Amino acid sequence: MSLVLAPDVTAQADTPQPVAIVIHGGAGTILPENITDEQEQAYRTALRTALETGHDVLTDGGSSIDAVVAALQTMEDSPLFNAGKGAVFTSENTVELDASIMDGHTLNAGALTGVKHIKNPIGLARLIMEESEHVMMAGTGAEDFARAHEVSFVENEYFYTERRRRQAEEARSSNDRDDARDADADGIPDYDKLGTVGAVALDQDGDLAAGTTTGGTTNKRFGRVGDSPIIGAGTYADNATCGVSATGHGEYFIRAAVAHEISARMEHGGMSVQEAARTVIMDELPQMEPDGGSGGVIAMDAQGNIAMPFNTPGMYRGYVGTDGTMVIRIYRAEDEE
Ligand code: ASP
Repeated sequence: MSLVLAPDVTAQADTPQPVAIVIHGGAGTILPENITDEQEQAYRTALRTALETGHDVLTDGGSSIDAVVAALQTMEDSPLFNAGKGAVFTSENTVELDASIMDGHTLNAGALTGVKHIKNPIGLARLIMEESEHVMMAGTGAEDFARAHEVSFVENEYFYTERRRRQAEEARSSNDRDDARDADADGIPDYDKLGTVGAVALDQDGDLAAGTTTGGTTNKRFGRVGDSPIIGAGTYADNATCGVSATGHGEYFIRAAVAHEISARMEHGGMSVQEAARTVIMDELPQMEPDGGSGGVIAMDAQGNIAMPFNTPGMYRGYVGTDGTMVIRIYRAEDEE
């Protein structure tokens, strides 16, 4: 963490910096044989919509916080991702949502966990950051805070999709079988388990912001909290280093304090954003006991350098770089590890 301001802040603010945005839509066993062409197209379209929405905000002079919220709300509203509508079910057949956001300029942050009636949790995370004296709020307390602000409330059923209900049922029944192949101890195939969304943006003032929003993991015990709403685990942003949003097996990401660890390697170890993100995701997480931490991150520094490492077969991801080029990927590309 570093709060040293550049000496020529005013001069910097006068000259618009090139903008950039990077997003993810979850990591897992995403292989061409696991999804149809139609599904792949639908994911690519949704990723493009999120990128264009966030990038438009940035080119119009909006802040990185505005861009992260705008991009992630499109993904929360899409049933494809495990965030907002389409989020996974808990063991009680309900949906409990987690989200967080961090401002790399001020190191201010907002987060919530276990909300059941907030249509767009990332927007509430921003309100907690900007309108409350707290960083993190839980469950009914977070929803009560939301009532005092302009926040859309929905019934828990709004989030339900048939696909996620089926996944939860399959997870429960394969828990009872001991022959669950290609699945972890909870019996859920990897490619169905993940799907969190996240964004990191760089605005014209050179400020970074990062946000993450999720339903957590399929069939999680109600009350379980993953890494996504935890500042330093699933989300982190510091203009002096980078912005990070994570996706993967949250318990491992919490224990490794993944997002802050990447920032710390840049700050104290002099690593580039690519090296810092790669060493944490590819070298350290897989070594953790007992099963290795699977997942990935998106990360970007204040110059717009982008890293998207993941140790699973695939990760929904994309970016618009400082040169305006848009890239959308699902599977591992030739030039990646
Ligand atoms: N990291 C999230 C969690 O553990 C899940 C995900 O990324 O899909 O709640």
